[in-house]
Amino acid sequence: MKLKNEHLLVAGSWTGALKPPESIPDRADVVIVGGGIVGVSTAWFLARQGVDVVLCEKGYIAGEQSGRNWGWVRQQGRDPREMPMMIESMRIFRELEAEIGEDIGFTQGGCLFVANNEKELEEQHDWVESTKEYELDTRVIDPKELAQLVTGATPPWLGAMYTASDGRAEPHKTTPAIARAAARSGAKILTSCAVRGIESSGGRVSSVVTEHGTIQTSTVLCAAGAWTSTFCRSMDIQVPQLRVRGTVARTAPAEKLLDGCLFDNRLGIRRRDDGGYTVAHGSILDHGITPSTLRYAFKFLPALKKEFKVLRLRFGKDFFDELAMPTQWSLDEQTPFEKLRVLNPAPSKRVLRKIRKNLDAVLPQMANVDIVEAWAGMVETSPDVVPIIGEVGEVAGFHIATGFSGHGFGIGPGAGKALAAMVTGADSAIDLTPFCLSRFFDGSPIRPMTAI
Ligand SMILES: Cc1cc2nc3c(=O)[nH]c(=O)nc-3n(C[C@H](O)[C@H](O)[C@H](O)COP(=O)(O)OP(=O)(O)OC[C@H]3O[C@@H](n4cnc5c(N)ncnc54)[C@H](O)[C@@H]3O)c2cc1C
Repeated sequence: MKLKNEHLLVAGSWTGALKPPESIPDRADVVIVGGGIVGVSTAWFLARQGVDVVLCEKGYIAGEQSGRNWGWVRQQGRDPREMPMMIESMRIFRELEAEIGEDIGFTQGGCLFVANNEKELEEQHDWVESTKEYELDTRVIDPKELAQLVTGATPPWLGAMYTASDGRAEPHKTTPAIARAAARSGAKILTSCAVRGIESSGGRVSSVVTEHGTIQTSTVLCAAGAWTSTFCRSMDIQVPQLRVRGTVARTAPAEKLLDGCLFDNRLGIRRRDDGGYTVAHGSILDHGITPSTLRYAFKFLPALKKEFKVLRLRFGKDFFDELAMPTQWSLDEQTPFEKLRVLNPAPSKRVLRKIRKNLDAVLPQMANVDIVEAWAGMVETSPDVVPIIGEVGEVAGFHIATGFSGHGFGIGPGAGKALAAMVTGADSAIDLTPFCLSRFFDGSPIRPMTAI
């Protein structure tokens, strides 16, 4: 599909000159690996408490998942384990623009999961019932109310799950704005600064080795998104994690047909703050089979079964690229993190054609509206599609926060608040034990409750 009037509003997050640090600090209380929404939110909360924190990002802030996502900030449809953190995240989002003094395009425009059949409707009623204790405003609405929320949609939907308080924000604005707020509060945010590995002494983290030098510290948070498993493997820690490619597009400004987010099995669509829409296919996940797919196949079997209909498996370049990637390295030489600074998969042309077709079929008023930008992102996921959080491995002081799957943008600020408490040993109102890595190795059943 030929894109008219193409320009890089979203992709501006991962293009342009890289800015390596002029110098790096000798020491810090906490070092964070990764400048996605999870890393920068944690840095922001730590810095506001007066903790001396350094964040190292190998490429650009929000250069990977956090700048490429759909921008949905939703509570509905989540695994119940995520609910307390997500409710806190929504509270933070509501106040974020005022707190940081920057526009992130946040609006509580509502979220709709439409039902195409009775089974989907029943599942929606079940979800609402199972999360009653959280007192959300989620309801299952009928086609008449749905038609009032979405102008001119053609499918004969039976109803929808609807949460009026759910929201949206612009990914290309949000994470960089939180990073700037963290810096204003005293965090040191270093870009183009890959962390090569960790050194330890007496069974505890003693320093972080970056491509630009070493930072003494006793506490590390690895929030490295799709790279966490690779990073941990170099420390002999197994983190089951796989990647799926999602293709996304942005339209030119158009008539207001809905104010928030809508998910149909053919289409995911969100109103943007510039009057356009962010659109994607509702049910295509591209997974390039890699050695990790084989290594973790058994653990991912329940998720693969659940997503079987929407998964498009490919065997080819991804397999050989990962096979050729070293799993261990010396800290004084270039690592995979510097060789591939930005994970920048190409959008699938086939999926883009389907997005165009489905958009026009579901919302015919969009037929004359151009798609002006397209991109793709690698969603990283855990076997039960819920994050992996905690101190891991043999070396005390090394923590991870990863596996946020296709819903980590909305929960990111809430995760950052809980992670800041975790790494400083403070009390957090949010229980992180359901997210421990050991759940994948201690024989606990692996049950994905939601989609990737
Ligand atoms: C197409 C798509 C659509 C999505 N839609 C939504 C949505 O609508 N709503 C939602 O809530 N979520 C959504 N998500 C998921 C969400 O984007 C992610 O869960 C979230 O952004 C993860 O944030 P993160 O900080 O953990 O990881 P990332 O944003 O991936 O950040 C990790 C960072 O670590 C850096 N890094 C890695 N290794 C190193 C190293 N060794 N040294 C230094 N830096 C390193 C990387 O460069 C990267 O910038 C979507 C994701 C995608 C891809």
